[in-house]
Amino acid sequence: MALMITDDCINCDVCEPECPNDAIYQGELIYEIDPNRCTECVGHFGEPQCVEICPVDCIPKNPDHEESQAELMEKYAKLQSG
Ligand code: SF4
Ligand code: SF4
Repeated sequence: MALMITDDCINCDVCEPECPNDAIYQGELIYEIDPNRCTECVGHFGEPQCVEICPVDCIPKNPDHEESQAELMEKYAKLQSG
């Protein structure tokens, strides 16, 4: 599953540069995650880097984007190939 940022986000800016897939961007009010680019860090790291660093724990799984590990790996491969 891709992850998502809830409205508990305090716009602290620390997650955006940590994302290896450039999936995190500043939205209108809070930071947002592009589900087409988030692989839960599969392919890059063992743990989601944004979740590890977020001080307010506001990055759950996105229930609208259910994906298996294999699908996340496929997304990673596609992103790598440009
Ligand atoms: S889980 Fe990884 S790929 Fe997804 S938004 Fe967070 S840092 Fe980016
Ligand atoms: S680390 Fe958490 S609180 Fe900070 S900008 Fe990212 S989602 Fe928002």
